[in-house]
Formats: sequence, structure tokens, C-alpha cells
Amino acid sequence: MPTLFTRIIQGEIPSDRVWEDDLCVAFRDIHPTAPVHVLVVPRKELTRLDQMTTDDEPLLGHLMHVAVKVAKQEGLTDFRTVVNTGAGAGQSVFHLHVHVIGGRSLSWPPG
Ligand code: AMP
Repeated sequence: MPTLFTRIIQGEIPSDRVWEDDLCVAFRDIHPTAPVHVLVVPRKELTRLDQMTTDDEPLLGHLMHVAVKVAKQEGLTDFRTVVNTGAGAGQSVFHLHVHVIGGRSLSWPPG
């Protein structure tokens, strides 16, 4: 059973894509928390960050690099990258993704 994000990546569910390559796709979050809110999603169905193995290190590095490229593409100099791991930490879609959030002042620590 493909994940929601795999169905988006495959084009079965529409999305507003801002990046696409062999390893990942980035699209705008449907419920943005800031003027820019993009999700960088690997084509590989890793459920959550702590499922990664040593073999996934290049992929994770790539996702972070794409997060930076997307932020620049969106005109951001200051931005936040977030990976929620587990429902108790706010993860609601169990297909690893990096949030790229910016375009407004972001306080730290978050609530
Ligand atoms: P998380 O809660 O960290 O798992 O993040 C999942 C994100 O996916 C949430 O911010 C949702 O708003 C977003 N989301 C859920 N469904 C869609 C969709 N169809 N298209 C774009 N973003 C979505």
C-alpha cells in the first residue's frame, strides 16, 4: 500500500511541486504554517528518520541539500528545517519528509 506521499510523487494526488529529481520530490504543504512551507520527500519510502541505516546517509544529505536549494529558490535567507519523528513529536504522515519553513519571523523554541 503506497503512502500518501508516494501517491503524490506518482501524480495520483495533485500537488504544487517546486523541485524534482531522481531521489526526491518537494511540494508545498497543503496546510502551510508560514508563507513558505515546503516538504522535501524521498522517493524511497522510509517511514521515519530513525528507520534510516548507514546506506541512507547519502540520501539524507541529499534531502538537506535540496531543502537549502528550495529555500534559496523561494528567496529565503532565514528558514527552518524540521523532521518530526513519531506521533508524539507531531509526525502525521509516515513517509519521511523534511519541512522547509520560512517567510516570516520564527521564534525558538517552538511551542
Ligand atoms: P508531519 O506532521 O511532520 O508528518 O507533516 C505532514 C505534513 O503533510 C503536514 O504539514 C500536512 O499539512 C502535510 N500534508 C498532508 N497531506 C498533504 C497533501 N495532500 N499535500 C501536501 N501536504 C500535505
